[in-house]
Amino acid sequence: MEGVDVVNVLHMNVGNGAFSYANNSLNPRIGIMKTWHLLEEVLKKMSLDPGFSKCFTMADLGCSSGPNTLLVISRVIEIIRGLCDSDRDNIEFQVFLNDLPGTPRCIVLALPGSFYGRLFPRGSLNFVWSSYSLQWLSQVPKGLASNKSNISISMTSPQEVIDAYKKQYQRDFMTFLMSRSEEMMSGGYMILTIVGRSIEDSLLHDDYMQFTILADTFVEMINEGTVKEADLYSFNIPLYKPSTQEVEELIKIEGSFNLEKVEGFKVHWDAHVRYDYGNRYDEVDKYKLGQKVSNFIRAYTEPIVAKHFGNTIMDDLYKRYEKKLAEYLSREDPMYFITTVCLSRKTKK
Ligand code: SAH
Repeated sequence: MEGVDVVNVLHMNVGNGAFSYANNSLNPRIGIMKTWHLLEEVLKKMSLDPGFSKCFTMADLGCSSGPNTLLVISRVIEIIRGLCDSDRDNIEFQVFLNDLPGTPRCIVLALPGSFYGRLFPRGSLNFVWSSYSLQWLSQVPKGLASNKSNISISMTSPQEVIDAYKKQYQRDFMTFLMSRSEEMMSGGYMILTIVGRSIEDSLLHDDYMQFTILADTFVEMINEGTVKEADLYSFNIPLYKPSTQEVEELIKIEGSFNLEKVEGFKVHWDAHVRYDYGNRYDEVDKYKLGQKVSNFIRAYTEPIVAKHFGNTIMDDLYKRYEKKLAEYLSREDPMYFITTVCLSRKTKK
């Protein structure tokens, strides 16, 4: 998939099945709910503007199908209603949802197109939200041939691979910021929640461990003859986890936004299982845990993996993956590191 434009490849399993993103989006939802206080703060600040209660235009970029987008929108509406209670009938809402082409999965209004480029009219948006999307790159970076049996940046990836991913991320995130800076009104706000990494953890852990375990699963299948080595060698996932410092630096370089707030927090890989089982969590069998963690990862990796390796091996692949995850999770307690930045559009000259 080297160099191939992946913007047209679906990133999430669609529909309503066992491996769909719609049925496996509780883990990100737990992360999103940890950012509600920022949403409240931003909307409160925005409500001080006299024009606020007249019209509010928001866009959710990378909204996918499923409950999270609707949850965010209803939370926004709820907060705004609370803020302009007396005026509630005067608010005219326009909500834009955006996802990839050919994925009419959004209920309110789907705006097809990549967020790595212009989507909305100049100066049209008050508020932009994007959660769990900006770690996806616009394409698999070029120059990853030496990554061999790795499928992302792993502890054994050569420096040139790390550099290629980083360069692609910088290019993409700058394009995102420049596009939004044109589309947003002066004083508008943007909240971006990104799957990232913490520099301290990076020294000790593989930041892409979920993909390293998936790569190990492929190696096992190569040894048994069900996957070709050449297929693995030519496959890499178009995903980059930026550090908070990298995100901040690019925002400064691009220059159209004030960085109002930066927060980082962690979410367990199995946060959704902990949530579902509550105080019975300790009774969850390790294979069940492996399966539940795999289902979420399958929801966000399968379309891209299947496009390269074909659909027929998917069930076998993820069954093996579940077992490997079960073993790993019985030894380790891995976490996703999530970065949220809150930006305001500087006054346009
Ligand atoms: N915001 C939702 C969904 C996150 S899943 C939530 O928080 O749960 C990531 C989404 O980003 C997917 O729907 C994927 O299709 C979308 N996405 C990835 N790259 C994109 C791009 N370049 N342009 C638009 N959407 C993109």
